[in-house]
Amino acid sequence: KDFKGKVNPDWCPGCGDFGVLNSVQRAVAELGLRPHEILTVSGIGCSSNFPGFFNAYGMHTLHGRALAVATGAKLANHELTVIVTGGDGDGYGIGGNHFMHAARRNIDLTYIVMNNQIYGLTTGQLSPTSREGMKTKSSPFGSVELPINPLLISIMAGATFVARGFSGDGKHLVELIKQAIQHRGFAHIDVFSPCVTFNHDNTYPFFRERVKRLEDEGHDPSDWKAACEKAMVWGDTIYTGLFFRSEGRATLEEKEPVLAQGGPLAYRPLGLSQEQAQKLLQRMM
Ligand code: SF4
Repeated sequence: KDFKGKVNPDWCPGCGDFGVLNSVQRAVAELGLRPHEILTVSGIGCSSNFPGFFNAYGMHTLHGRALAVATGAKLANHELTVIVTGGDGDGYGIGGNHFMHAARRNIDLTYIVMNNQIYGLTTGQLSPTSREGMKTKSSPFGSVELPINPLLISIMAGATFVARGFSGDGKHLVELIKQAIQHRGFAHIDVFSPCVTFNHDNTYPFFRERVKRLEDEGHDPSDWKAACEKAMVWGDTIYTGLFFRSEGRATLEEKEPVLAQGGPLAYRPLGLSQEQAQKLLQRMM
């Protein structure tokens, strides 16, 4: 209840993003976090309206730039729990470059991508995860492009926690989000979050028929090769769960010498007189 924002989501009834929002709210409540300890950052898109519906610090930033802004925020105050939210177009298309670099830096962020395999806010164009042959407003004869595999990209780029959830399986998603937040390092969760208005291929029934939890298959997330193999499976079976986790690798903020000594930058004295600080603030306003 503490994390419910004052503004109600304006998503279409049935949108998968409702399930993701509820799951994040439940996960942080179950972890005992408080609103002032959390920052949510997003880019642009239906799902990127997330910070407006969540009671914590929030930033709704530029298209594809959420991870860059979140990296800056985490470096300024690494005591904050920083959760980055957005969609597949925002994160894997416009922000694809930032995605790779956040993964390789292993900065301690939780990145939740509401993957609906289409651009919803702009009313239904192909996204980087749309399947080949999919008919959309921008591909009336069917997509001629191969989709990207976001899990493989983040595993290969160096992410230390890589998972996939389904917004129709809230209990499972809550557990994945809790583990991701508790993980030290870059944690990426790709979530199937159906767009009920524009994607008529990848629907709730489509996923319900196919999704299998890795936990029920005895998958070992420390096994890099098995994680890659499972991430490539797409057909009658599609896996959700924790694909890969590597523990013990230092995070960016732990390795950064300036941050390692003296605590968060946000709490340090500026080293300016009151007069100088006032002038600086005036220039910024
Ligand atoms: Fe959700 Fe699609 Fe509606 Fe956007 S257009 S709110 S993604 S159902």
